[in-house]
Amino acid sequence: MNKYRDFDNYFKEFPNEKGYFGEYGGSFLPPELIPAFEEAKNSYEAICQSAQFINELRRIRKDFQGRPTPVYHCERLSKLFGNCQIYLKREDLNHTGAHKLNHCMGEGLLAKYMGKKKLIAETGAGQHGVALATAAAYFGMECDIYMGEVDIEKQKPNVIRMKMLGANVIPVTHGLKTLKEAVDAAFEAYMNEYDDAIYCIGSALGPHPFPMMVRDFQAVIGHEARDQFLEMTGHFPDAITACVGGGSNSLGMFTPFLADPVEIYGIEPLGRGSNVGDHAATMQFGTKGRLHGFESYLLQDENGEPLPVYSIASGLDYPGVGPEHAHLRDLGRVHYETASDEEAMEAFFLLCRYEGIIPAIESSHALAYAIRYAKEHKSGSILCCLSGRGDKDIDYVYENYGCGEKFFNK
Ligand SMILES: *Cc1c(COP(=O)(O)O)cnc(C)c1O
Repeated sequence: MNKYRDFDNYFKEFPNEKGYFGEYGGSFLPPELIPAFEEAKNSYEAICQSAQFINELRRIRKDFQGRPTPVYHCERLSKLFGNCQIYLKREDLNHTGAHKLNHCMGEGLLAKYMGKKKLIAETGAGQHGVALATAAAYFGMECDIYMGEVDIEKQKPNVIRMKMLGANVIPVTHGLKTLKEAVDAAFEAYMNEYDDAIYCIGSALGPHPFPMMVRDFQAVIGHEARDQFLEMTGHFPDAITACVGGGSNSLGMFTPFLADPVEIYGIEPLGRGSNVGDHAATMQFGTKGRLHGFESYLLQDENGEPLPVYSIASGLDYPGVGPEHAHLRDLGRVHYETASDEEAMEAFFLLCRYEGIIPAIESSHALAYAIRYAKEHKSGSILCCLSGRGDKDIDYVYENYGCGEKFFNK
């Protein structure tokens, strides 16, 4: 039990003053960018404790986002595997269909209190861009989304959504024209415009204070889920799980449970297998390094250059991971496991057919682990963060897997 009680003071210790979670995190920036991140840090620390800010954020969560999202007991799905009960935290029912809005609304509100007029970000698959464009529309702010030209071509529906919501989608045309170049372009814009703008990163990563800020804004997931689960069942779940891309929905789910007697599992994408370029399982195969202004585990070559990554879930294919995850693994508090494309897709179709819920492919990785846990344990309970809904994925899934026939005719 000591293992859990040691976490009572966790939030006072981590991150430290310099933004470190143990050995990971920090802030590695060109001198021109330091004032911008300093300003964000100082403002966040000053504003986030104020009753006015907290009350306004609560009202937004309730009236605009539709929170609290429910915890749902998957009775039919659980029955397939024995007596272990699978529960879902339904972030797919959050406005815009995923957890990303939790931190985008927080960052937008912070921008408002700081007197900023514009939100800046990069986006890869477009999910973060859509969530941020939504926040910008809500607060009546300008929104510049930097996106690689290659991604703009691949992600038309999200580009259209961002534009409908009033955002400027700015094509990035150098290098490989994908996410990495988009991050560079967004950093550069922030450097030039931080008097009027704030940068809103898409996950619990980047230089301090972003890993902490995004985790704090996402923690609404775990706080709600903990209360809801206790009220429903009278006890803690035996285990909780979430998928880990950059690590925001997972930290949001996990951190409120750190001091509780609950096993915690973060699930990374194993893609097509363990060869370089076939997965994005950073905690499994990565090494310590530095990327985009922070230190953490990375999939990198001998020269520290990021390796190619792949996952069927475009929201999970990042070659790094938020620094707090690396720390939580060092502490032995969170276990990291993987789920392959095929396992995720089987879980996807099972949830469709047995519960009437079409999940995001990202979230299906966590669900695949919940199913594996249920098969292995035969009793007890596991609470899984269903980070998003699958509407965005159905065209791709249909083209490649039909309606899941192969998983049901074995
Ligand atoms: C972006 C995304 C993820 C991955 O991001 P994290 O920061 O690791 O949470 C997971 N699920 C969905 C639905 C997403 O859109």
